[in-house]
Amino acid sequence: MTSREGSLDAPIRHPLDWRNPEFFDQGALDTELERVFDICHTCRRCVSLCGAFPTLFDLIDESKSGELDTVAKSDYVKVVDQCYLCDVCYMTKCPYVPPHPWNVDFPHLMLRAKAVKFRDGDVKFRDKLLSSTDRLGKFATIPVVVQMVNKANTMPAARAVMETTLGIAAATALPPYAAERFRAHAEPSVAWPVRDGERTPGKVAIFATCYVNYNEPGIGHDLLKLLHHNEIPYRLVEKEACCGMPKLELGDLAAVEALKDINIPPLAKLAREGFAILTAVPSCTLMFKQELPLMFPDDADVRAVADAMFDPFEYLVLRDRDGYIKKNFPQPLGHVSYHIPCHARVQNVGQKTREALQWVPGTTLNTVERCAGHDGTWGVKKEFFAESMRIGKPVFARMNEDDPDYVSSDCPIAGRRIMQGIEDKSGPSRARREHPLTLLRIAYGLD
Ligand code: SF4
Ligand code: SF4
Repeated sequence: MTSREGSLDAPIRHPLDWRNPEFFDQGALDTELERVFDICHTCRRCVSLCGAFPTLFDLIDESKSGELDTVAKSDYVKVVDQCYLCDVCYMTKCPYVPPHPWNVDFPHLMLRAKAVKFRDGDVKFRDKLLSSTDRLGKFATIPVVVQMVNKANTMPAARAVMETTLGIAAATALPPYAAERFRAHAEPSVAWPVRDGERTPGKVAIFATCYVNYNEPGIGHDLLKLLHHNEIPYRLVEKEACCGMPKLELGDLAAVEALKDINIPPLAKLAREGFAILTAVPSCTLMFKQELPLMFPDDADVRAVADAMFDPFEYLVLRDRDGYIKKNFPQPLGHVSYHIPCHARVQNVGQKTREALQWVPGTTLNTVERCAGHDGTWGVKKEFFAESMRIGKPVFARMNEDDPDYVSSDCPIAGRRIMQGIEDKSGPSRARREHPLTLLRIAYGLD
């Protein structure tokens, strides 16, 4: 075995070998966990990233021999439960990722362990419920139900019951549901001429996402306004279900495949017709760009969708380089605290949102690139809420520096958690929490 540290070669990601029966074999999994945990024990670079690594190192340091050999294999799950699959250890820290012969892919090893747990039925009703974002959203946005759900989510007595019965932390601020779904009320596009650029297709298809459709439709409407203002024709994807990221995080790979089978055919058709596909939630974009291609490496439709998928600011900045973005911004934004969430960082497209916000005169940016601790549904769970707030604490402090006018994150859920962290510590803030797409719409002076 080599002892070479790091690699001069570009990292590569191996497909997830989940069709192989060995993937689900507990003995084979334990052997691989032991191998990788031992490498991490001697390395320890990732200690500050999340709770998974400190949990592992504490288990080792408090064991009889002070080495991994005296850590009970039954305790490995404690490490697995602390991982929320942000991918940051793989993408930004680890020198032993492939093609290094040590072949460390910590997030995908955690995913494999979660998949085995799920196969064994070791999963709470709460986790199945929270990861069914589409079903929850459809139910919670029914007229009358929506008012009841939103009321219950802010009532301390109801939240105490939810914590006891479901294990959803009473102290976590839950996003309200919208009375009007985005997809039902999206303005149709003007039939602008299609101007394909060198870097960007001239027409856009919008994958709404569960969060935008059911919780914050305003973000979707703002994206449409930005496209309209820049004379880019758009359409909604005809039919969509959840992207599958919440099910992936649960280890329910069969559910991911079922959702893929709903989403990919219409998306692949649009990709082949030359549309750029945009989603306004980084985790959903990442699901299509990275996770589905790694789960289905031989599926040409999945590949076509991944190639057509853009983060919305990646699209706008490249569109600007193609010469098709209007740069007249009558409305300064003042002081903006902007957070780059993990699932935007690991897309490897650079800081495109930051670049676009810098187009706006009279705007100063305080950019914070660090995990805010919410991480999908992980941070709302009773047993992880306190750890999640601890992880986010440095981000909350940095985002509140210099009395910002706006607090903004590409991940709308992280943005909510950051506001909660700021206000829990310092009381009501005068800063407005707005998505970067909304900020750009404001800067353009659009209603
Ligand atoms: S993927 Fe994220 S949460 Fe999981 S171990 Fe790596 S840094 Fe921690
Ligand atoms: S994931 Fe890589 S960088 Fe992080 S502790 Fe393990 S070996 Fe070290």
